[in-house]
Amino acid sequence: MKLVAIPGDSVTIDGTRLLRCSNWAWECNWLVADDSGSGQCFAGSFIRARPAGDDTLALERLAQTAKSLRRLLYQLIELELPVEPYYRQGRGLAFDLISSRTSGTPVVIGHANGVITIDLAESLDEHRESLRVRLGEPYRTMLGHFRHEVGHYYQSILVENGRMIDECRELFGDERASYTDALDRHYKFGAPEGWEQSYISEYATMHPWEDFAECFAHYLHISDTLDTAAESGLVVQAERVRWNLTADVVPRSNYAGSTIESVLADWQVLAGAFNRINQSMGKGDLYPFTISEPVVRKLEFVHRVVVTAGDRRTVSA
Ligand SMILES: [Zn+2]
Repeated sequence: MKLVAIPGDSVTIDGTRLLRCSNWAWECNWLVADDSGSGQCFAGSFIRARPAGDDTLALERLAQTAKSLRRLLYQLIELELPVEPYYRQGRGLAFDLISSRTSGTPVVIGHANGVITIDLAESLDEHRESLRVRLGEPYRTMLGHFRHEVGHYYQSILVENGRMIDECRELFGDERASYTDALDRHYKFGAPEGWEQSYISEYATMHPWEDFAECFAHYLHISDTLDTAAESGLVVQAERVRWNLTADVVPRSNYAGSTIESVLADWQVLAGAFNRINQSMGKGDLYPFTISEPVVRKLEFVHRVVVTAGDRRTVSA
């Protein structure tokens, strides 16, 4: 969980000798204990399926995509969510990172029993952008896919069959509703009129599972961006802005002890600033979404799921 500069191939930290990950040549910058038995870092160990060793085109895409995977895992660990790989635990997390371009077979991005499948072809800008435009989405990234799919995973292990399931169904709907019917309806008729009033995205309207996964992804977008702002020392000074801001906004790396309202109050100011900065560069908004009141309630639920999962782990440790 530290960023260190290493002069050669290895470094010793707290008495442990660490080596560069064996995927160093594929741009992995994580380290691995020299006695780990495998030259592969913790993040790489989650990759269950990958392109063949001679498929260099797909391996280039894997290198790109694995950056998003490492960012995801880093954040999950920071949030103290359970991050157990599939080879240590039944229904643990695994990633099948395969390409529809070179495998010649369609790859459906999704989650099933801890296994997250990602189509590496989506890391090609022209492919992902054309899908984004065709689907009418304001935002589509590889990191976003990872955050969405891992939301399905955490709903299944932390919410379903747990104490919070009734409340979850009240907010997001009953996840036992037929998924195939929902899929048919969504691609035939699209999102219902006025969806913005209770959903974060059109896709979230499809099925209660998708609504939860979308909200979970947004929770990760928001908390990671606030964390990065905090680590960069960014503060919005009330006396220096040209609108009415009652107090300075000081983003934090950790909101575990706070309400969702305080997370979103900081976010609203910072996202507004980031959106204007992006526009200054001729780009679209950094965060092209509006969070309505019902979505605040859903994010509040996700916040509690994440925080209580962290608390449980502290207690058991
Ligand atoms: Zn989904």
